[in-house]
Amino acid sequence: MKKVGIIRCQQTEDICPGTTDFKVAPMGELGFEPIGPAEIIGFVSCGGCPGKRAVARAKMLVERGAEAVAFASCISLGKPLGMVCPHFELMKEAVAKKLGPEIQILDYTH
Ligand code: SF4
Repeated sequence: MKKVGIIRCQQTEDICPGTTDFKVAPMGELGFEPIGPAEIIGFVSCGGCPGKRAVARAKMLVERGAEAVAFASCISLGKPLGMVCPHFELMKEAVAKKLGPEIQILDYTH
């Protein structure tokens, strides 16, 4: 089972504890299909707009064993409010650059 760290939107922490992420990750479903069944080893927020802290937090997740890093659906798909993060592409690019090609990046979780 692959180890994955999740980065979620700080703006949605008050209304979503990430329940669906924890449900679908072990089954390797939805956003986790590219890596199959996964164990969540860390669940952190982006640190707030504009998401610069996500880079250091992603690195921390890898240092704690993550083999892949997933951006939660609150960021890339705007769930559950219907508001996509306006900084997603830049944040993803910066995280991918920091982590290098060996760490798989998942664009969404469910
Ligand atoms: S940067 Fe994006 S993901 Fe982070 S708090 Fe702001 S809207 Fe949410």
